[in-house]
Amino acid sequence: MKTQPLPAYVVALVETMNADPPHDCPRCPRLVAYRQANRAAHPDWWNAPVPGWGDPEAWLCVVGLAPGVMGANRTGRPFTGDHAGLLLYATLEQFGLSRGTFAARPDDGLMLDGVFITNAVRCVPPENKPVPAEIHACRPFLEAQLAALSRLQVVLALGAIAHQSAVKALGGKLPKLPFAHGAVHRLPSGLVLVDSYHCSRYNTNTGKLTPAMFAAAFEAAVAARRP
Ligand code: SF4
Repeated sequence: MKTQPLPAYVVALVETMNADPPHDCPRCPRLVAYRQANRAAHPDWWNAPVPGWGDPEAWLCVVGLAPGVMGANRTGRPFTGDHAGLLLYATLEQFGLSRGTFAARPDDGLMLDGVFITNAVRCVPPENKPVPAEIHACRPFLEAQLAALSRLQVVLALGAIAHQSAVKALGGKLPKLPFAHGAVHRLPSGLVLVDSYHCSRYNTNTGKLTPAMFAAAFEAAVAARRP
């Protein structure tokens, strides 16, 4: 019997899933211990590396820092369940990059259109602060995630750590590509990296990042997209 080839969308979806770490990834002892403590205290939470999420045929990949303990670490979907997702998902809607209504739950039916979201570090770190060894240990998963997005053109890095990890994952040289909000960098691969301050509670509440500033970073990403 002749088998039919899988649709391109399904192939792309499988490739992005293959780029995710295992549920019990052992590479970062400190984060494994924190994961186990969270599993004991909150057995109904996700408490595992958070998979990337979105459109497997994305032209844009948003790279955050790491899951928040009450956000993605609890719900299992990036930027879902805590403050950091509010501005991000509102801005994706503003730019026509999502369909449906964000309700801060993985089962809210929201779909991303042309966008994929992941983190430089997939496990929740204590106090939202991964150490350099953990950022380094998780980079292969970021590299694999970005490589699996065959239509990727632009990476939007949220914050300096996401910026640094994305530059390294994409083969760029950090001294030549410093982080700055709104900066647009051309990488050797032809991909474009756009920087934004992270849409964290601290940055948005203190005015370091306003909705207009965040929208400007998305405008730069849209402008960098090739037809
Ligand atoms: S942060 Fe990344 S490398 Fe470290 S344990 Fe989690 S998934 Fe593994």
